Amino acid sequence: MRQSQLLSPTLREAPADAEAVSHQLLLRAGYIRQTAAGVYSYLPLGRRVLRKLEHIVREEMDMAGAQEVLLPAIQPAELWQRSGRYALYGPELIRFHDRHEREFALGPTHEEVITTLVGGEVNSYRRLPLTMYQIQTKFRDERRPRFGLLRGREFLMKDAYSFDTDWEGLDRSYWNMYEAYHQIFTRMGLQFRAVEADPGSIGGEGGTHEFMALAAIGEDTIVSCSSCAYAANLEKAQSIAAHSSRNENKCEMTADGESITPYPVMTKLHTPNIRTIGQLKQALGKASQQMIKTLIYVADGQAVAVVVRGDHEVNEIKVKNTLGVAELQLADAETTSRVTGAPVGFAGPRGLSIPILVDEAVAGVKDALMGANEVDYHYDHVVPGRDFTLERIGDYRNAVEGDCCPRCESALQFSKGIEVGHIFKLGTKYSETLAATFLDTAGKEQNMVMGCYGIGISRLLSAAIEQHHDEHGIIWPLAIAPYQVHLVPVSVKDAEQTKVAEHLYEWLRRHHVEVLLDDRDERLGVKLKDADLMGIPLRIVIGKDAANGLVELKERSSGEKQIMTVEKACLHIQAVLEQV
Ligand code: ATP
Ligand code: MG
Repeated sequence: MRQSQLLSPTLREAPADAEAVSHQLLLRAGYIRQTAAGVYSYLPLGRRVLRKLEHIVREEMDMAGAQEVLLPAIQPAELWQRSGRYALYGPELIRFHDRHEREFALGPTHEEVITTLVGGEVNSYRRLPLTMYQIQTKFRDERRPRFGLLRGREFLMKDAYSFDTDWEGLDRSYWNMYEAYHQIFTRMGLQFRAVEADPGSIGGEGGTHEFMALAAIGEDTIVSCSSCAYAANLEKAQSIAAHSSRNENKCEMTADGESITPYPVMTKLHTPNIRTIGQLKQALGKASQQMIKTLIYVADGQAVAVVVRGDHEVNEIKVKNTLGVAELQLADAETTSRVTGAPVGFAGPRGLSIPILVDEAVAGVKDALMGANEVDYHYDHVVPGRDFTLERIGDYRNAVEGDCCPRCESALQFSKGIEVGHIFKLGTKYSETLAATFLDTAGKEQNMVMGCYGIGISRLLSAAIEQHHDEHGIIWPLAIAPYQVHLVPVSVKDAEQTKVAEHLYEWLRRHHVEVLLDDRDERLGVKLKDADLMGIPLRIVIGKDAANGLVELKERSSGEKQIMTVEKACLHIQAVLEQV
């Protein structure tokens, strides 16, 4: 491609509203333009990278035995009503009517369509297992579209669905996809980690892993063990709390529950207007891990209390899963004062008449401070189990730095990640409601056992840039670069340089090298700045030495430059490309 013809408008400055580096660079280097909030147009360079990403995904899906299909973006509401998700999906689902007032949705995902399709076409165990995939645009009216392609409202996804006769089969299909994902992200040159995740609203009884591209901008927190293979999303991560001794207090009670601890008796403290852990810490000089925090939630309309240590945060997903509710929200001030008898800031587990969930780290606290359910009062010297009942003890908090691995007790590490892929064991959730059944070897009707597997292709475009850039621009890994080689003649007015550049351009194209020739009549400084911004991995600058058959080869990633003959440059490029 000749750059003089290419629509790749570069910008010197990033638009003020682009926060993420990848978003800024995609705009500045002329890869994308915003059409509406969370909706983007891909310019030629952006489209080329998307195709590279798609190509790797396709190759690996095909290698794994999955079959490509293309399902409709327009989906009848009736399918979603049958699966029960029409009501549950909420405002993220874009709904509309046709001219006959029939209801439809724009597909945010395709479980309903594929399950109905496969269920209708396959009715014998002989045709299973099957894994189908597609690469297609998805629509989700995200509450906060942001960071450019990282969270769009219209985005490109690879979604795959497996159908098996039983759970063992699903296990094989699942791990087959797990392996394929490893191949895909490795080939793309990404630094990533597979982590255990929470199944979330999509449901399903089995396991689920998220594939995280490691990047500081990532919205997800990854908790991983410094010595064993344990890695989980913070939403799901378990841990052994620092400064905790699980259930110790229990041992210090007699059979009838009376305390024999050496701790002082609980006292009531006047704490006028001191409500938060921070204020209590300042006023009383007590460490936050010796405080007990009680939060009032409304779970599907019912008030519940969740009790965690002062230095811990409630993990709402764990609470939701324990209670088996669809909605969980912090109670408003009015509800809090109705159920605790005190304004926000003075709640405590003693004497509450609503269900109480106590985090296991609370059980190990000694001599604690907690709210007294009375305005301007707290209790001090509290011993959990002695001064309030330890009800429904469980893991209801986020793991924090300093906690230990639940498997091997080594230190846990925290990092940020962008979820680029997600694999789920769905089980029979969709095959039951959408009647995807088959006849087994005994001629008995059974539900197909399903899995689903997503990859955010457009999100990957941004995630790759988050990992591969410097202050001058993008640095593409060779496998996903829009072009492999950038030819930059210093002056297009110089006949010798033009001759060498054109010769190289033709030779490389004939040898199937993807090459961009900067044939613009621009100053060298402008050309090199644009080249750095665009991030093509190999660059050949053709300057005054062209007359002697010499050019400069530069690697964008290392910045290394070498002067060499035109022939040697060609051989070098071929050798590098063979490794991809
Ligand atoms: P998130 O937690 O980021 O909202 P999700 O759990 O809703 O993701 P899935 O439904 O599992 O995502 O979708 C599969 C993949 O599609 C994700 O792993 C992610 O890479 C990508 N994806 C999801 N939502 C978006 C979006 N709004 N913009 C771009 N890519 C997305
Ligand atoms: Mg989402």
